[in-house]
Amino acid sequence: MRILDDVKLDYEDVLLRPKRSTLESRKDVLIERSFTFYHSPKKWRGIPIMTANMATCGTFEMAEIFSKYKMITTFHKYYSIADYEKFFKTFHNPDFICYTTGIREQDTKQLKLMKKKGLLEKFSFICIDVPNGYLQSFLDDIKSVRKLCPNHIIIAGNVVTNEITEEIILAGADIVKIGIGPGAACTTRKMTGVGYPQLSAVIECADSAHGLSNERGVGRIIADGGQQYTSDIAKAFCGGADFNMCGSLFSGFEQSAGETIEKNGKKYKEYFGSSSNKAMEEFYGKKEKHRASEGRYTLIPHKGDIHDFIQDLLGSLRSTATYIGARQLKEFPKRATFIKVSRQLTSYLEKYDTGE
Ligand code: 5GP
Repeated sequence: MRILDDVKLDYEDVLLRPKRSTLESRKDVLIERSFTFYHSPKKWRGIPIMTANMATCGTFEMAEIFSKYKMITTFHKYYSIADYEKFFKTFHNPDFICYTTGIREQDTKQLKLMKKKGLLEKFSFICIDVPNGYLQSFLDDIKSVRKLCPNHIIIAGNVVTNEITEEIILAGADIVKIGIGPGAACTTRKMTGVGYPQLSAVIECADSAHGLSNERGVGRIIADGGQQYTSDIAKAFCGGADFNMCGSLFSGFEQSAGETIEKNGKKYKEYFGSSSNKAMEEFYGKKEKHRASEGRYTLIPHKGDIHDFIQDLLGSLRSTATYIGARQLKEFPKRATFIKVSRQLTSYLEKYDTGE
C-alpha cells in the first residue's frame, strides 16, 4: 500500500488570476484552433469542444447544430448502419463528427462493415471508448483500429495518468480521452473508489501527450466530463486540454435527446450515464449479470434552446481570454496562473436560482 501525498485538484479547487491585457474587445479573441496530429495526416480547424458520446447529446440532431459552430458531435454507439446511411444522404461535414466504437465483438464487426460500405470515410474522427483504458488488451485494440483506419484522427480512452497516455499515443491514437469518475452521470468513484481529480489529470496527461512529437504533429488530449460550468471548460483549456468533451452541459435542451417530463408544473429532460441501468436495458435489451451499473439516471430542469447556451459558452471563453490576457484559445495555458482556493465557488444566491 502507498499513499500519494501531493494534493490533486478538481475544477472547483482553483480560480484564474487576472492579468494585464491589451485586448480592446472580446470580439478580437480567436477561439478556433488548428491542429495537426501524431499519426493522422489530417489537419483540423474548429472550436475544440465536443459532445460526449452519450444518448442524450451524441445525436444526429446535435451534429446539424454543432457543425455550424465548427464544434464536434461524438455519436453514441447505438446508431445502426442503416441509421448512418440515412443520415449521410443529407449530412456532409466530416470534420465535425466522430464515430464511436468499443472493444466488444459487435463493435468491431460494425466498424469493419462501416469501412467496407465507405461510411467511415464520412468521419474525420473515430473514438475508441472504454470505461477503463488500463487493460493491456486495449493497446492491441488501438493498434488494430489504426491499421484499419490509417488516416483517421483516432481518439482513445479513458485514462487519467501520464504514463498510459503516452502508451496509448504510441499504440496509434492521436488524442487521449482523460477522465475516470468526474462525469455528472458517473458513479464509478462511489461504486469502486477509483478516480483522479480531473484538473490534475488534465494537466499531467496534457504534459505527457504534448511531450510526444514527430514531423506530423504532437500528442493531444481531451478533458472528458466533470465540467459543471462554462468556466470549467476554460480551466481545462488553461490546464492544457486540446479539446473539451461534455455530456450534461449539452443535455436537457429542447434539441437534446431524452424524454421531456412534466412534474409539479415544471419541465425536465432525462439525462443518464452510458452504463446506467437505463442505457443498458434500453439499448442492449438487458443488463449483463457481471456488470454493476456505474451510471445514474436523472432529470435535468429543461434548459431551453441550445443555441443560446452555445452563444453564452463561446462568450464566456472570450471573456476568460480578456481577463487572462490571451488573444487566442491557444494561448490559454501560457497565460494561466491558477490560484488554489479553499471555498466552493457557489454564490449564496444560487439557492434562489430560477433557472433564468
Ligand atoms: P459530464 O460532462 O456529463 O460531466 O460527463 C460526460 C462524460 O461522463 C462522458 O463523456 C463519459 O466519459 C462519462 N460517462 C458517461 N456515462 C457514464 C456512465 O454511465 N458511467 C461512467 N463511469 N461514466 C460515464
